[in-house]
Amino acid sequence: MIRAVVFDLDNTLYPATECYEQGRLALESFCTTHFQITRDQFNESFVKAKQIVKQQLGNTAASHNRMLYCQTLCELLSIHPLSYALKMYDMYWESAMRKMVCYPFVRPLFHKLRGKNVKIGILTDLTAHIQYRKLKQLGIIDAVDAVVTSEEVGTEKPDPKMFVRILEKLKMKPRETLMVGDNIVKDISGSRSTGMIGYRISVEKTDEVIKEILSFIE
Ligand SMILES: [Mg+2]
Repeated sequence: MIRAVVFDLDNTLYPATECYEQGRLALESFCTTHFQITRDQFNESFVKAKQIVKQQLGNTAASHNRMLYCQTLCELLSIHPLSYALKMYDMYWESAMRKMVCYPFVRPLFHKLRGKNVKIGILTDLTAHIQYRKLKQLGIIDAVDAVVTSEEVGTEKPDPKMFVRILEKLKMKPRETLMVGDNIVKDISGSRSTGMIGYRISVEKTDEVIKEILSFIE
């Protein structure tokens, strides 16, 4: 019997890719206005900055840290990072957060799960600070019983350590727990290898998401 549902956050509970694009556009506008570079130069450098950070850090939460992307971007564009990287980081997240709202199924589903005494967990690859900020912005932070980020585990999904940690926090056995996510490898294969049940989300069909997730519980 399912007594807990663990959700991935990005692109599962809200459209992360669209929000990140807003952040990137804000940086593009700032850099092309202030530093006499073209949009192509900006975009080439932004992609390269991400690649450099990811290559250096591998499967860690810090590999997604926009502070490091902005610092590396400044270095690539020969802009003094100490003068601009923090400003750019804040600008990125302010723009991304402004667009950040839950998919329509999230609130009614959380309400129903809580009504059935089913615990709610969040299992997510990124740094704790920014994921807490997202949960607050999405208005669901108080409805979540436990969160695990890859920052605190030191590795990312699909590493079993991530799934074991959220089960420990929720005090649940794998078979009592449903993992819901958008990524077949990270969320679904990862959870199944730990003995949890995995459900891949299809956000286009809101009604079906609620119905199908509740069918595991009822
Ligand atoms: Mg995701």
